[in-house]
Amino acid sequence: MGEENIYNIQWFPGHMAKTRRMITESLPDVDAVIELRDARIPLSSKNPEIERLCSSKPRIVVLNKSDLCDPDELPLWIEAEKKKGAVCIGVDSSSGKGVSTVGRSVASACAEKIERNRQKGFSVRIRAMVVGIPNVGKSTLINKLAGSNKAKAENRPGVTRDRQWVKTDYGFDLLDMPGVLWPKFDNKICAENLALTGSVKDDILDIESLSIVLIDRLKSRYYSLLAARYKIPQQQREADAVELFELIARSRGMITRGNEIDYERASRMLIDEFRSGKIGRITLDRLNRCLI
Ligand code: GDP
Repeated sequence: MGEENIYNIQWFPGHMAKTRRMITESLPDVDAVIELRDARIPLSSKNPEIERLCSSKPRIVVLNKSDLCDPDELPLWIEAEKKKGAVCIGVDSSSGKGVSTVGRSVASACAEKIERNRQKGFSVRIRAMVVGIPNVGKSTLINKLAGSNKAKAENRPGVTRDRQWVKTDYGFDLLDMPGVLWPKFDNKICAENLALTGSVKDDILDIESLSIVLIDRLKSRYYSLLAARYKIPQQQREADAVELFELIARSRGMITRGNEIDYERASRMLIDEFRSGKIGRITLDRLNRCLI
């Protein structure tokens, strides 16, 4: 644990226990698991135990919010997952881009079971569930996969009674409640990435420190995006994160009556603009850390 104490994460053990319970209770009822991650942080948004917990089922890794991530990085992350043997798809659940590929992948991951049932003369529908850490877009994806099939699929014998299933257009039913997993906090960078993308509550790190962390991350790889959005001259390239923050705040007129920087307002603006993709398409995790 170590470093994360400074990030005020006290709920970690409780979440771990809840996740294990959720997975152990729901897993026997499904044929496949759709694991959602945030394409801006494919590593930090990964639950550390998911592979082990779900090893008995086909798993489809979805890098969601791909509309917000660096378009040059996305194929590299997908490739890295594929090399590890996973099915991995970049998706934008907001617009629906890639959702049909997810649907078809669940069906093809379960093709053997479908064929076995067919040969036995059964027409049992395949069932899947969506799991992921908070705010990665689980509900949005479930809604998109369900499409116009708002009617609930019937409960079948053997399926836990209090669970509801929705039909999808892809020949499988989906647990209509997402499985919420705890995020990975095994180092400071992961915790910061989760805070920056809004996957953990904002009180994990004060907003002003968070905005300095953001600039520090962006200033080497994404300086041109920052410079273009906030009209920072090229010659400021060597400025440190605090200096850049002040230039950004001033360029947006975020100054108090006493001509002081309004740190709180400028920080909120920066974090909001990053989260909504206004600064540009950005990937915070570094792929080389994933391959170590
Ligand atoms: P959950 O907590 O995992 O169920 O996440 P939600 O489905 O509630 O989504 C969290 C936020 O992310 C909402 O504001 C969604 O509109 C937004 N969101 C979900 N998927 C996408 C996506 O692919 N792209 C973008 N830009 N936003 C998304």
